[in-house]
Amino acid sequence: MNKNFLDILDRPEVFTDLKGKSFCNKSIGNMSWLKAGGSAEFLYIPSDEDDLSLILGSLNPDVKLNTFGKLSNTLVRDGGLPGLSVIIPSNFEGIEVLSDTQIKVGSGLSDKVLAEKCLELGIGGLEFLIGIPGSIGGGIFMNAGCFGSEFSDIIVDVNFLTKNGKKINKKSNEINLSYRNSNISEDLIITSSVVQGFLKKEFKIKNLMDEIVLKRNTSQPQGYATGGSTFKNHNNFKAWELIVKSGMSNASFGEAMVSDIHSNFLINKGSASAGDFEALGNMIIDKVKFEFDILLEWEINIVGEYE
Ligand SMILES: Cc1cc2nc3c(=O)[nH]c(=O)nc-3n(C[C@H](O)[C@H](O)[C@H](O)COP(=O)(O)OP(=O)(O)OC[C@H]3O[C@@H](n4cnc5c(N)ncnc54)[C@H](O)[C@@H]3O)c2cc1C
Repeated sequence: MNKNFLDILDRPEVFTDLKGKSFCNKSIGNMSWLKAGGSAEFLYIPSDEDDLSLILGSLNPDVKLNTFGKLSNTLVRDGGLPGLSVIIPSNFEGIEVLSDTQIKVGSGLSDKVLAEKCLELGIGGLEFLIGIPGSIGGGIFMNAGCFGSEFSDIIVDVNFLTKNGKKINKKSNEINLSYRNSNISEDLIITSSVVQGFLKKEFKIKNLMDEIVLKRNTSQPQGYATGGSTFKNHNNFKAWELIVKSGMSNASFGEAMVSDIHSNFLINKGSASAGDFEALGNMIIDKVKFEFDILLEWEINIVGEYE
């Protein structure tokens, strides 16, 4: 198995120095929140930034690179994902309190854990993270947000590794965070970030977090595999409203269906394929286009090849 992994390294002798976990043809669809889809041709889970830098520095430059955090916003097509996929683990680069209101945080940490750390430290402004099931890296990449706040409100700067393993840093104004978007190249891996909040009483932080959790529990499907919001909202409309008004709120395809709790969420009835999700999403896009001449844009990141 490891022999195959060596095929993607220009300097295979480096392999014995790697401290992370390597896999060939590893199913990652079932690691995603949608619980559907195919395998990564090669997968590496690095132990820390130096380890990741080492493998990147020895990687054949022709190998396509994909980076993931918690795979909560990703649909991996059933035919799988060619090249090297890197999953940043939760403990990657840890968490370091820099001041009363600033924290340096590794990119694999879950948003929820950072929210809880801020509660403990009395840092406000990051409560919204309690409601997003992704990692810090995934949140920065697509400027995730909810309840009126988003990553652009808290990011000071971001550390990256380039595709050949070199460390670089960018200030928040250099990564153009906008609604569910950034200008971060797919060849850059976010390794850590400095986030900024403000001093706030613990009970006020706790109250806001409880409110967010309660709202989510009552307005989003529970107990089903889902990728969260499927389509982006637009200045003039909410995606869920267009889905309801176009008559698609009861639609399904194979084992994928529109949630009856939130029509912009697609859920897995049990054994949906990635193809079921993509077909259902495309049916909705076509119907909304037909009814309103508005083109819905996927918020879920779709990667890989068709079966
Ligand atoms: C139940 C549910 C509720 C959700 N609610 C919300 C919500 O309220 N608001 C919201 O914005 N989103 C929401 N989401 C979507 C998702 O949780 C967020 O988009 C989250 O930020 C994705 O993080 P991730 O680590 O799972 O990213 P992944 O799915 O692993 O990756 C997403 C994208 O980020 C890139 N990426 C990930 N990590 C890195 C890295 N270290 N370096 C470079 N690129 C990276 C990937 O290449 C990919 O393009 C929800 C999802 C679910 C399942």
